[in-house]
Amino acid sequence: MNTRSILCLLLALTCLILPASAQRDNALTQISTIDAILNGLYDGVLSFGELREYGNFGIGTFHSLDGEMVALDGAFYQVKADGRVYDVTDTATTPFSSIAFFQAEKEIPIASGTNYQEIQAHLKETIPVENIFQGIKILGTFQYMKTRSVPGQTKPYPPLVKVTANQPTFEFHDIAGTVVGFYTPDYVGGLNVPGYHLHFLADDKSGGGHILDFIVRDATLFLDYLPEIRIILPNNPDFNSLELSKDRSNELNQAEREGGKKAEPDNR
Ligand SMILES: [Zn+2]
Repeated sequence: MNTRSILCLLLALTCLILPASAQRDNALTQISTIDAILNGLYDGVLSFGELREYGNFGIGTFHSLDGEMVALDGAFYQVKADGRVYDVTDTATTPFSSIAFFQAEKEIPIASGTNYQEIQAHLKETIPVENIFQGIKILGTFQYMKTRSVPGQTKPYPPLVKVTANQPTFEFHDIAGTVVGFYTPDYVGGLNVPGYHLHFLADDKSGGGHILDFIVRDATLFLDYLPEIRIILPNNPDFNSLELSKDRSNELNQAEREGGKKAEPDNR
């Protein structure tokens, strides 16, 4: 084989390997909407085998609302209501997820003692990017981390506020891990939690979940600007007959930002 044909072969192989992810690098893919979840639409609509085609970094939940999902470096994890972290099979399904191929475009060191509120204020002040979606990754150690998870539900599914009223919450001290999540602009309320929606995964997989609060020990924040968005909506009677024009921001605040019942992570 001469040099030219080797080059052609290499180019052909590159095209075979790169197509999907290279095209989707700046896109966030959203499965269903947060308002559908608020309304109790917890049936899985896309398998994790299919979801991984759209990204290697993300958050979401599982069929029947069985826990909090964290996708990191292409691996999918399920933080169940018992506080433990489980691997996710490709055949499991999700009713709601946000996913992207994460590529850090900005790196911001976070000072020790900075809490979640202060990080949000700092980003608002220093990064004047409020109208596009962004992937957020915070890597490091945390003085404090408070998360929650939710137990799987049975039909007829109750609305999310009913479920989260009794959600188990978990507190960690001096824990190494990764915060994974997204920034959603305010003008697209109803799709995801406006502002920041973050999940946590401990490095040693001893816990994680949907973040309620945290304080950094030593960490770096990475931003990935995502000016493109793909929305995959459930095309089924439950979704198509739902009343989605109502403003549910109060319900959303109650369900996604407030505490529940404190539980200890079950570390058997
Ligand atoms: Zn969440």
